[in-house]
Amino acid sequence: MSIWTTRAVTAATASAAALALAGCGGSDDAAAGGAGDGAGDGLTVVAGFYPLEWAAERVGGDRLDVSSLTPPGAEAHDLELAPRDVAAVAEADLLVYLDGFQPALDAVAATEAAGTAWDAGQAADLTLTAEEHAAEEHAAEGETAEEHAEHAGDDEALDPHFWLDPIRLASVGDALAERLAEADPDGAAGFEQNAAALRADLEALDTEIQDGLAGCAVDTLVTGHDAFGYLADRYGLEVVGISGLSPSQEPDPAQLAEITALVRERGVTTVYTETLVDPAVAETVATEAGVRTAVLDPIEGLTDESAGSDYLEVMRANLATLREGQSCS
Ligand SMILES: [Zn+2]
Repeated sequence: MSIWTTRAVTAATASAAALALAGCGGSDDAAAGGAGDGAGDGLTVVAGFYPLEWAAERVGGDRLDVSSLTPPGAEAHDLELAPRDVAAVAEADLLVYLDGFQPALDAVAATEAAGTAWDAGQAADLTLTAEEHAAEEHAAEGETAEEHAEHAGDDEALDPHFWLDPIRLASVGDALAERLAEADPDGAAGFEQNAAALRADLEALDTEIQDGLAGCAVDTLVTGHDAFGYLADRYGLEVVGISGLSPSQEPDPAQLAEITALVRERGVTTVYTETLVDPAVAETVATEAGVRTAVLDPIEGLTDESAGSDYLEVMRANLATLREGQSCS
């Protein structure tokens, strides 16, 4: 009975478009932070959104000039590309994107960057889907399992949010080092070293999260949109997203009632909202169920209000939030 509805135009889309127009400043800042004096003579890399930008900066070091197509503060799923963004993709030495995550960019990757687009999802081992929801939906329409299987394998059901599992992100860093070495053979040794350092940081983070979430009283994670599947999978939690795999897939009233009942049944004490998405729906569930809200960041973009200045810091802030919200000892 779960049916995701899709809004045609959202406030987030509008603000993303507005920010895209002013996006050059953010891109320049990001390049200055990552590329230093090498900016200008290194490879030009365009990333789809923050975690890919961060990984590219870490692996590329001063040999890359990295920018992100998603401006700080914009909702990443609903990315809209201005003509100059399309031109940047076409001119870049490498486009680092995630197929199935930003539909506008998928289209441009195919037409403008056929030989230079690199899909991070290939190295990320994307194994999770929203099949459960889809299956329920089709069952409600009286569809048989066989009929459902005919449209299974649809990309839209694949969960793209791999970066919330640090180990998957480390694998993407290793694969990116290899791809960069093809484009810049002189930098190969450096890329490999940088990817190893990135992996070490991510494995240390993974150990901290394993330890931090080892003894939690509540193992059901109720989040804004369904972004935390890979995190939940790695650390033995079960995630219930109030919206679908994209924040624009809002739940219907019956589904909201179902989630509210589940919050009560499982002793959930905290419903998580996000930094870049309107918290109203999650707040409704929390109010109905009589529980708290806290901000858990899916790290689809950073803003001044983010609980840290890079991926590692925000993940550690997320860990602290989870330890409190899931009553971990
Ligand atoms: Zn998402």
